[in-house]
Amino acid sequence: MYLKSIEVNGFKSFANKIDFKFNNGITAIVGPNGSGKSNVADAVRWVLGEQSAKNLRGAKMEDVIFAGTELRKPQGSAYVAITLDNSDHKLPVDYNEVTVARRVYRSGESEYLINGTVTRLKDVTKLFFDTGIGKEGYSIIGQGKIEQILSGKPEEKRELFDEAAGIVKYKKNKAATE
Ligand code: ATP
Ligand code: MG
Repeated sequence: MYLKSIEVNGFKSFANKIDFKFNNGITAIVGPNGSGKSNVADAVRWVLGEQSAKNLRGAKMEDVIFAGTELRKPQGSAYVAITLDNSDHKLPVDYNEVTVARRVYRSGESEYLINGTVTRLKDVTKLFFDTGIGKEGYSIIGQGKIEQILSGKPEEKRELFDEAAGIVKYKKNKAATE
């Protein structure tokens, strides 16, 4: 499984539709300060269900919508879609390719989609259990995160190990039947 593309449209500094394509391997995103590198990582965290505006470096969720510049008017909605190659079926669905998308309007109305079908955040979260990919997964390591893990509470460290060991789904299923 690997990340094939990230589409952003109206998300933060990305006023219009941009499609970042990736190959299986290492990709680095480089650019001057303030050019939007961290916004790409924010886009991935957001589409995976991030609910905290602060974690996305904003004050309120509306701040993820392109706010306009002197030359461009603001957008009415933000959209992000990530596409993963799933030919190894690490994600527990039949599809060889999985696209997860999220859209939010200024009214606050929002939706999640998996391969084009409107779904609940719960299903997006579940899709990524034990893959290390969720918004709390270890595949997105933000600035300061390593320090936070090292100095974190034992329970928080345990959650990370559970995810890496692939036992989160069993724990969640057990909790649901109790
Ligand atoms: P650095 O190298 O300093 O870490 P960076 O490339 O990571 O920089 P980002 O933090 O991703 O840069 O981008 C910051 C830019 O995004 C700022 O110019 C900010 O104005 C812009 N930005 C953030 N939110 C929005 C928004 N809602 N609308 C328009 N622009 C936005
Ligand atoms: Mg940055």
